[in-house]
Amino acid sequence: MKLRHGSDAVNLVVVGSIGLDTIKTPAVTRRDILGGSVSYACAAASFFTSTGMVGVVGRDFPARYRAAFRTFHIDQQGLQSADGKTFRWSGVYERNLNNRRTLSTDLNVFADFAPDLPPVYRESPFLFLANIAPELQFRVLSQMRALRFVAADTMDLWIKTARPALLKVIRQVDMLLINDSEARELTGEEHLVQAARRVLALGPRYVIIKKGEHGSLLFSKHGLVLVPAYPVDEVHDPTGAGDAFAGGLMGVLARARRITPGTVRRAMVYGAMVASFTVEAFSLEKLQTIRRADIEARVRQFLRMIRC
Ligand code: AMP
Repeated sequence: MKLRHGSDAVNLVVVGSIGLDTIKTPAVTRRDILGGSVSYACAAASFFTSTGMVGVVGRDFPARYRAAFRTFHIDQQGLQSADGKTFRWSGVYERNLNNRRTLSTDLNVFADFAPDLPPVYRESPFLFLANIAPELQFRVLSQMRALRFVAADTMDLWIKTARPALLKVIRQVDMLLINDSEARELTGEEHLVQAARRVLALGPRYVIIKKGEHGSLLFSKHGLVLVPAYPVDEVHDPTGAGDAFAGGLMGVLARARRITPGTVRRAMVYGAMVASFTVEAFSLEKLQTIRRADIEARVRQFLRMIRC
């Protein structure tokens, strides 16, 4: 298949969960909608670079969701189908849509998944280890042959249940993306700036701390950068905002000739804009309606908003 960006090569590989989500917001409950960290991250990245997904679904995975991936021109050679049920997650949001509680997580086919990457994926220069068990992230990382830049995301579940494997991954990545409460949990440090310093000491050159509607902070030896979130008119479902942010960021980085604090900052702005579209609807529904030009227009508007 020819990718949107005109070649057969995959420039960015993303591994993580692909799932059926059931989401309750104060306004509505949506059952078994397309979710998972890979789905959001690949869709976001696909606006900028040729992207391939690594993950597994069960036999119950609806054909229309594979078709949705095709509308984004996401390469699916790394997507396996296994006997059993697709990963499922459900969560409920409180009234302000900021606080989320997980109701259930069923790993299903992810419990026995051992990814073996297609040969073209192994040559990809960019890798995003989206949220999934750190053992799986490590297995993918160790198959890559020509990496220029690798970023990883994680969540509180793995900090609690798989810390040694997670630390092994963190030691080998260029960038860790983590939200504020997870950074505190990982390091035992309440003060965010100190927590970020401790994460940097674990290995990565860049640490991005995500603060939801309050934007994100980039820490590196070159200092600190703040990128606010874009204030959307109405949030319908915040699920996947972090994954879309990371996917958009990695998609933009994958086009950069050199990766510097400046290119990372610019990529963060794009990530924040894709995330802002994502939360305007459930699942990938909003991203399916926009084009690259809509993202560029929002970037321009955003830059005007933050000018001082
Ligand atoms: P976010 O809102 O960016 O934290 O991402 C939400 C997505 O993460 C949902 O679509 C879920 O399917 C997925 N997810 C939730 N829990 C897990 C987990 N334990 N491992 C991997 N993915 C998960």
